Amino acid sequence: MADVRIGVLGCNGRMGQAVLRAVAERADAVVSGAVARSHIGEDVGEVAGMARLGIVVTNDAEALFKASDAVVDFTLPQATAGHANLAASTGTAYIVGTTGLGRIEQEAVDMAARSVPVVQAANFSLGVNLLAALVRQAARVLDGDFDIEIVEMHHRHKVDAPSGTALLLGRAAAEGRDVRLDDVADRGRDGHTGERERGHIGFAALRGGDVAGDHTVLFAGRQERIELTHKAGDRMIFARGAVKAALWAAGRPAGKYGMAEVLGL
Ligand code: NAD
Repeated sequence: MADVRIGVLGCNGRMGQAVLRAVAERADAVVSGAVARSHIGEDVGEVAGMARLGIVVTNDAEALFKASDAVVDFTLPQATAGHANLAASTGTAYIVGTTGLGRIEQEAVDMAARSVPVVQAANFSLGVNLLAALVRQAARVLDGDFDIEIVEMHHRHKVDAPSGTALLLGRAAAEGRDVRLDDVADRGRDGHTGERERGHIGFAALRGGDVAGDHTVLFAGRQERIELTHKAGDRMIFARGAVKAALWAAGRPAGKYGMAEVLGL
C-alpha cells in the first residue's frame, strides 16, 4: 500500500514539530507538506530539528490539504474554522488537536465531519484515553458521596485553562454519573465560594516550568480517597497518537471520530 501523505499545520509550533518527527518515525507515512505563519521557504525537516526533508514550509493551507490524505492541526482555536472548511472543500481527512475551541469553531469542525472523516481529541495519548475509560467506570460505581475533583498541571506557555484533557476527563466522569458536565462543573473557586455542592465536578489548573501535562482525577469520599493519575513525559505521545489517527482516518467514511475509536477502547 502507498504511504499515507500527512500534512502538518503549525509545523514550527511545539506540537507541529513533534508531529513531523512522529511521521518520520513511521515506515507507512510521509510528510506531504507543512504550513506555518513564519519560517516560510525553510526546509521542513530542519524546522523540526531533523535532517533535511527536501520540502519547504509554505503559508498555503489550501495547497497542503489538496496534497494530503490527512492533515494534522495543532495550532490556535481562531485558525480551526478555516482549516475545517478546507478539509471539507478538498475532501481531506482532518485531525484536530487544537484545544480551547469556541462554539463557532466547534460548529465548523462538526460541519466538516459531515463530508470528511474528522478525528478530534483533546488528548491523543493512549494513557489518557484509557484513563478516561477508568474514570467513567469509577464515577459510575462510586455514588454522590464521593466528590470528584480534577487537578491538572502544564508548562508556563499554555494559554487555556482548564486543559482540554481535564475537560475530557470531566466529561468522562459526568457520563459515568449520567449528568452533563456543563450542569455540574466548578471551573474556578476564589473568595467566599460557599460549601462545595454535592455532585459537582471541580477543576484546578496549575501552570509552570516545562510540564508536558499531568492530570489527576480525585474521588474524595468519607475516610477514603481514590486518585487516578496520568503524567505525560513528552509531547511525542500526543504526536504519535495524532499520526496514528491520521493513518486510521485516511480513506474512512465521513464522520466525527475520537481516540477511543482509533484505539479500539
Ligand atoms: P504552539 O504555540 O507551540 O504552536 C502553535 C503553532 O501554530 C505556532 O507555531 C503558530 O504560529 C501556529 N499557527 C497559528 N495559527 C496558524 C495558522 N492559521 N496556520 C498555521 N499555523 C498557525 O502551541 P502547542 O503547544 O504546539 O499547542 C497547539 C495546540 O495544541 C494548543 O491548543 C494545545 O492545547 C493543543 N495540544 C493538544 C494536544 C492533544 O493531544 N490534543 C496535546 C498538546 C497540545
